[in-house]
Amino acid sequence: MINTPSCDVAIAGGGLAGCLIALALAERRPDLDVRIVEAGERLGGEHIWSFFDDDVAPDHRWLVDPLICQSWDGYDVHFPAHSRSLPGVYNSILSARLDKWVREVLPAERIIHGMVATLDHAHIRLEDGSSIVAPLIIDARGPGSMAALDLGWQKFMGQLLRVQGGHGLSRPIVMDAKVAQIDGYRFVYCLPFDEDHVFVEDTYYSDTPTLNPEALRGRITEYASRRGWVVSDIGHEETGCLPVAMGGHFDRFWATGGQGARAGLRAGLFHPLTGYALPDAVRTAIAISDAPLLETGPVSTLTKTQARAAWADRRFYRWLTRMMFRAAEPPVRYRILEQFYTRDEELIARFYAARSTLADKMRILSGKPPVPITRAIKALAGR
Ligand SMILES: Cc1cc2nc3c(=O)[nH]c(=O)nc-3n(C[C@H](O)[C@H](O)[C@H](O)COP(=O)(O)OP(=O)(O)OC[C@H]3O[C@@H](n4cnc5c(N)ncnc54)[C@H](O)[C@@H]3O)c2cc1C
Repeated sequence: MINTPSCDVAIAGGGLAGCLIALALAERRPDLDVRIVEAGERLGGEHIWSFFDDDVAPDHRWLVDPLICQSWDGYDVHFPAHSRSLPGVYNSILSARLDKWVREVLPAERIIHGMVATLDHAHIRLEDGSSIVAPLIIDARGPGSMAALDLGWQKFMGQLLRVQGGHGLSRPIVMDAKVAQIDGYRFVYCLPFDEDHVFVEDTYYSDTPTLNPEALRGRITEYASRRGWVVSDIGHEETGCLPVAMGGHFDRFWATGGQGARAGLRAGLFHPLTGYALPDAVRTAIAISDAPLLETGPVSTLTKTQARAAWADRRFYRWLTRMMFRAAEPPVRYRILEQFYTRDEELIARFYAARSTLADKMRILSGKPPVPITRAIKALAGR
């Protein structure tokens, strides 16, 4: 049966970006009928998203604060040559909380479980033959074609471990690179959710997007046992493969994207080196909720302008990514981050937030290069 409801805003994809837009509109434009079409059972899938306080502007915090499940004051990094404790509040959002919160804020009939087959500037057509008509169609279905971009991958598996007698960590380890270097730059990331539970993620900056889940599970077990942890239970497990960008053509990328207004990874909005997308998703959601005319044409222009400006502004991070992938042999890629983490705290915070100043960039590139200089020059020149 063909079912054609009309609403004010229809969002294809109830992941991070789509849900944040729906939440921002619900707060700022409660008069609007906003619908989300999500293929999965749960909005947001199976993810833990983390961010530093500095990554989100103070006047945008109202959007993410209700979603935060845990915050820690400070974090640690470990490299072969040094370890360091850094300040800065680190926050984590669990997708289960996002799902719950969106279902509290939006009436149930506005969350549509279904697979989008096609969309254009005014319609979403679902695979079951139904369609939705709206003046504003937003495409937030996660990454589309990225063939126009020169990418590497940050891939990982995470497991929530229950450790008998406690794991002894009081703050996150954002990078523990004192592990065997395999398949590029490898590090382990740990989030201690309570005394007994720690989320452990085995992560690789790799040339390939393929994951071997069994091998990664084995390495998490090995890491836990090396730390002396006796694991009594394994809970939530997640895998991910995030694009990290070394270069590419923004306009060609955008041209392959279809007709809706685009948000999130679909708009190419992510940090080129960390692959993180939450700070951009927050900015996009706020900008859409502030837009004077909620129609596909103007909102598409708005998100394209935001994505293009981010692309232009982030060349430096693409250079660094290129240096890591192209100038350093995989077993010594970690040295780039090892050197980066000797820099001053505020520079590091601005880097994560993709707000590095010119002085920061010069500082990051100063000193003895951690990779062969001729290869670094070739990588920076794009060769
Ligand atoms: C495991 C993991 C952990 C991450 N951790 C962080 C982090 O800590 N911090 C950070 O900033 N970034 C993180 N990222 C990167 C980035 O923030 C996420 O990928 C983020 O979820 C991207 O948001 P998005 O809305 O663009 O895509 P997604 O969140 O992937 O949302 C896309 C949604 O669209 C749905 N969909 C796709 N196709 C269709 C269709 N045809 N019909 C209907 N629905 C469809 C999907 O089911 C999905 O729910 C992580 C990524 C992953 C994979």
